[in-house]
Amino acid sequence: MLKEIKVLRNLQELDDKILLNTKEIERLPKVVQELEEKYSSEQESVKNITQRLEQNLLQQKKLELDITSNNQDINKYENQLLSVKTNKEYKALNAEITHRKEKNADIEEQLIEFMEEESVLREEKKKFEELFQKDQKIFEEEKAKIDNQVAELQKKVDELEAEKLKLSKEIPELLYRRYQRLIQHGNGKAVVTLSKGTCTGCHFRVRPQIMVEVSKNDRIITCENCSRILIAPK
Ligand SMILES: [Zn+2]
Repeated sequence: MLKEIKVLRNLQELDDKILLNTKEIERLPKVVQELEEKYSSEQESVKNITQRLEQNLLQQKKLELDITSNNQDINKYENQLLSVKTNKEYKALNAEITHRKEKNADIEEQLIEFMEEESVLREEKKKFEELFQKDQKIFEEEKAKIDNQVAELQKKVDELEAEKLKLSKEIPELLYRRYQRLIQHGNGKAVVTLSKGTCTGCHFRVRPQIMVEVSKNDRIITCENCSRILIAPK
């Protein structure tokens, strides 16, 4: 076998490994990103519920103040009742007292609604806080694991690249440049086997003459369709 062909075959094997590892390096952070999005959205929910809860408590406080103020008025009017002189005054004060009492009854109903909502919100808040804490922990653990994996893979890619560079010195520079161009424009495939008369790079059926030439392994033959270097299967 021509030495160049052997080197090209080995270069392609190295590039296959590099591509595999590179794809993994690109894929892994996406897993972490999905986990991060999950826990971030739960964190966002906790924030929203907390805001709604604060609003709710403010409203309750306001309604309670209204009740207190109405009760103060009622007390004041009831005291005045003790010293009224006319029936008209008496009726007017009583009407005020009734009006305040009715208002308080309405406010108390509203308060109950707010309190019911408060208890629902507290439950929800607790649920999302637990989810958020759980998923944040999963995210942190996975991230550390994946960061490690990526670093390992990167180290491996660096080693493979170094090996490739060393190997590339064994063929003429022009041929290596041609190989690199094919790698870059051919989806990572520069050297492909010929299988049953078909280029495995582009599925083009080559001429019988090419099949014979490739099987000899004594000169570099390229696919007429995709320009990749054709080699015989091992
Ligand atoms: Zn081809």
